[in-house]
Amino acid sequence: MGMLIAAYITGAEWGVLYIRAEYPVSISTISNSIAELRALGLLGKNIKGSGFDFDFKVIKAQGAYICGEETALLSSIEGQRPEVRVRPPFPTQQGLFNKPTVVNNVETLACLPYIIDRGGQNFAGIGKGKSTGTKLISLDSFFNKPGIYEVEMGTPLSEVIYNLGQGFRAPVKALHIGGPLGGLVPVHKISDLTVDFESFASNGFLLGHASMVCLPHDFPVILYIQHLFKFTAHESCGKCFPCRIGSTRGFEMLQKASTTDYKIDRSLMADLLDTLEMGSLCALGGGLPLPVRNALHYFSDELAPFFKN
Ligand code: SF4
Repeated sequence: MGMLIAAYITGAEWGVLYIRAEYPVSISTISNSIAELRALGLLGKNIKGSGFDFDFKVIKAQGAYICGEETALLSSIEGQRPEVRVRPPFPTQQGLFNKPTVVNNVETLACLPYIIDRGGQNFAGIGKGKSTGTKLISLDSFFNKPGIYEVEMGTPLSEVIYNLGQGFRAPVKALHIGGPLGGLVPVHKISDLTVDFESFASNGFLLGHASMVCLPHDFPVILYIQHLFKFTAHESCGKCFPCRIGSTRGFEMLQKASTTDYKIDRSLMADLLDTLEMGSLCALGGGLPLPVRNALHYFSDELAPFFKN
């Protein structure tokens, strides 16, 4: 319904839902919702005699992480290699098939019916500071009660973890929050955080899409950050050098340090992270430094044996 509202306002005739094919339940759920709208006469030509035409197209995407980046997503829908595009032009100027295109997460669009129904001020009254509304949070299987929860922005993180998730199944030393490029939050920082963008940013983390992945107490941090570099190298679209080459060089350094007596030069790692952050064209390469720096800061004792003094 949110997309229908957005389309009516912008004058769009098509709404494209881009869902990874690995999530078949999502695809069947959305297809059922579309069928319900059709049965209500809310899709097709001249909807309810309004002169407004609109319909959906569901794309079963083939699972590249970078397709979450809006311009790579557009290339993927067009049947091209999902490579990030240089902006400007922005998608709203020149997007899908060179037509102006609004790209939003479904979580954002799902807020529209509430806003239209109750008003923007009412919606802005939910949440905290500039983080208005609610946030969907996913807790992984290391929680006693894993799943997806919707909470008001500003909810204490400890409430999400210990009340909704009912704590951890086994000892945990950190939470990777906000996706693979989100921050690595050590458990002692949980009590300092609330679920909103400002709280996470001011503490040096990133709320992102608010997924929470647990780092078990006995899992080596060196292997975790090695995995993050490997993930970025694997998912890199290859458009820019810092990400394409830097992610692989970082992975090689960490792998060598974890399997031989090689010690990583701290200034070399710092330069690599700065280059990734400043030189990457999109948030994949540009976001990798955050969890790595969090790890270097909060787990310095554990990581010290792998670095030169
Ligand atoms: S940062 Fe990585 S994913 Fe993003 S444009 Fe550059 S190579 Fe592609």
